[in-house]
Amino acid sequence: DRTATIIDGKAIAQTIRSEIADEVRQLSQKYGKVPGLAVVIVGSRKDSQSYVAMKRKACAEVGIKSFDVNLPEEVPESDLIGKVHELNANLDVHGILVQLPLPKHINEEKVLSEISLEKDVDGFHPLNIGKLAMKGREPLFEPCTPKGCLELLFRSGVSIKGKNAVVVGRSNIVGLPVSLLLLKADATVSIVHSRTPDPERLVREADIVIAAAGQAMMIKGSWIKPGAAVIDVGTNAIDDPTKKSGYRLVGDVDFEEASKVAGWITPVPGGVGPMTVAMLLRNTLDGAKRVIEK
Ligand code: NDP
Repeated sequence: DRTATIIDGKAIAQTIRSEIADEVRQLSQKYGKVPGLAVVIVGSRKDSQSYVAMKRKACAEVGIKSFDVNLPEEVPESDLIGKVHELNANLDVHGILVQLPLPKHINEEKVLSEISLEKDVDGFHPLNIGKLAMKGREPLFEPCTPKGCLELLFRSGVSIKGKNAVVVGRSNIVGLPVSLLLLKADATVSIVHSRTPDPERLVREADIVIAAAGQAMMIKGSWIKPGAAVIDVGTNAIDDPTKKSGYRLVGDVDFEEASKVAGWITPVPGGVGPMTVAMLLRNTLDGAKRVIEK
């Protein structure tokens, strides 16, 4: 009694990665150059290490050269910024990614705003976000996870123009930019956050729901409008004694319930997650093309 088409983010991301690999090959044949991505990590947080390893591996698979920068937890902010400047000046580097979160003694905002606009493949530079928010302006890069959400909608044939979209969450890296992208795609957008009194009421009206609150299964099946497209960005670890690890990952949406009502839905894991990495590769390739083809 499932009504929803499951959006297979892993398969869609794989298609995108092979498109990128083709374009990288063509670029290399024509100009003898390949895109380069610098991946900077500070400290040894387990989750950050595994994200970074995944990103480096994904680069290798599509022929993007990755420049690995590993700095110790105690690195002074000025050294990190020095490193960013060095990468800004390196002509073989077309994208710079600083893995977040940074240690407490470092001002994240300050570091991110030192990344050259032309190499801001995460799309977190305030000028890129600002342009995203302005009518008639185009940022050089759109943030990867939000861009991945839209790409899932496009490639699944979900129409956005004129539809009601509700975004749950307003963070700088997901909720806010995904709202701006939906607005650019001509949706009517509402943003739900922790001070919204009755989130259910708004979600019920939505043809498109983007869940990015980081709250395990907060969005129930009964909240979903029949036929709606549901993109679940949430990635929450919950206890599961039946698993060897002792936990499993769930989204912000109750998948079992919602998939009986929705028109489309993404699973967690295997939905938005793989798209984030694919969009990072896309942004790096686009940044490289702007430089190399000029
Ligand atoms: P943040 O914690 O930075 O932001 C959460 C947002 O959700 C805030 O705006 C907050 O509101 C809002 N919120 C929290 N609780 C509620 C609630 N009960 N009702 C309504 N709104 C609520 O998280 P991120 O944006 O960084 O990430 C969101 C989720 O997406 C996380 O689970 C994260 O793991 C996942 N994620 C997945 C990625 C992927 O590639 N798949 C990439 C990035 C994130 P307020 O502003 O009022 O505090």
